[in-house]
Amino acid sequence: MSTTPTPYDDAKAQLKRAQEILGFSDDDYDLLATPRREVTVAVPVQRDDGTVEVLQGYRIQHNWSRGPGKGGIRYAANVDMEEVRALAMLMTWKAALLNLPYGGAKGGIAFDPADYSQAEIERITRRYVHELLPVIGPEIDIPAPDIGTNEQTMAWFMDTYSQAVGYTSPGVVTGKPVSLGGSLGRAEATSLGVYITTRAALEQLGIAEKDATVAVQGFGKVGRGAARFMDDAGMKVVAVSDVFGAVYNADGIDTAALADHVDETGKVVGFAGAEAMDPAELLLLDVDAVVPAAVEAVITGDNAAKVKAKIVVEGANGPTTAAGDEILNANGVLVVPDILANSGGVLVSYYEWVQSRDNFFWDLDRVRESQETAMLAVWDDVVAFAKEHDINLREAAVSMAVKRVLDAHNMRGLFP
Ligand code: NAD
Repeated sequence: MSTTPTPYDDAKAQLKRAQEILGFSDDDYDLLATPRREVTVAVPVQRDDGTVEVLQGYRIQHNWSRGPGKGGIRYAANVDMEEVRALAMLMTWKAALLNLPYGGAKGGIAFDPADYSQAEIERITRRYVHELLPVIGPEIDIPAPDIGTNEQTMAWFMDTYSQAVGYTSPGVVTGKPVSLGGSLGRAEATSLGVYITTRAALEQLGIAEKDATVAVQGFGKVGRGAARFMDDAGMKVVAVSDVFGAVYNADGIDTAALADHVDETGKVVGFAGAEAMDPAELLLLDVDAVVPAAVEAVITGDNAAKVKAKIVVEGANGPTTAAGDEILNANGVLVVPDILANSGGVLVSYYEWVQSRDNFFWDLDRVRESQETAMLAVWDDVVAFAKEHDINLREAAVSMAVKRVLDAHNMRGLFP
């Protein structure tokens, strides 16, 4: 039997730590650690060549004490129950930390979209939605994009659900195209939040934005936008990576030109404005901040001691394992935890859901200003809580969120 902790083990370790800090009972721990509903579905798909494959799909609703489930849908080959459980739990804390009226959920299908045509992905998506119909809806569980999914996926999702209920229901998903009731500012909201929290962390350490150097792992929906915002603000983005490789320029990468290069070639390597580097070294560079914004478990017990950055901003969900986190903390690295750093996405998803329900749409300035105000207020609260209890930012953020969920649960009471 493997002794490597799963992402769900790591998520439960965070909850256990919150229990120590807040002092609630083991019964409450069990209640908070156990997902409320776990659904697995077979997703049969007819390939373009006529053959049929059966994929495995998941949707896990971790907690709904404060409102309907909320969380992304991931399409990736390594999606499994343990990962989805961990991500659903993180979503519960993230929504509560932002004080949004949501619980946490997450879903996914185990397949690599790069190996399938658009028509196949559409059939897979529609069948998956059909299988989930009894457990999703604007008042039940509201999905959003994650790794391997995008606004087109959400458009198919919304259409399939709407066909089934008999009317157009934009509130069933967020991260929709703006033409279908998506929110202005949603596409880049997670990235903007990563930038806002990086800026706040730099300020806390007395580092001016103009002097700051950063390295960003991942150049997808989160990493690309984060690198662009940071570059625009005057920070020096010295390294960027994707699944194929990494590039480095000590003078700072022109991230707009890099984005054009990626649009043309599909990868960061080969970009004329930087040299290739070993992607395994990116998170270990001697920079002010590293931003893991790709996949989970990239800072671990094996490499955390070699992290030289003063700040780690978790753009991705769960990029640091429990063992890695312990080492970063012992070495005095300021870790901005995922549920705070990448919470801009769920925050503006909430704005999108509100707009969909109101049939009244906000302009971009209102979205951006609301996001910045809300995230900086949460940042201040987390920093103050951490100081008060002499704990780190992750312990503070998770504890504040867990307390809100527990309070809601206790006020509602346990139905026999
Ligand atoms: P994405 O699929 O758009 O992009 C992922 C990026 O990571 C791609 O550039 C890919 O090439 C790269 N990548 C994959 N494996 C890698 C590896 N081993 N090393 C380096 N790069 C690698 O996904 P995304 O939406 O940007 O999500 C990234 C992370 O952010 C995930 O953990 C996701 O859960 C989290 N997140 C996303 C959102 C959102 O709004 N999209 C919100 C909150 C959190």
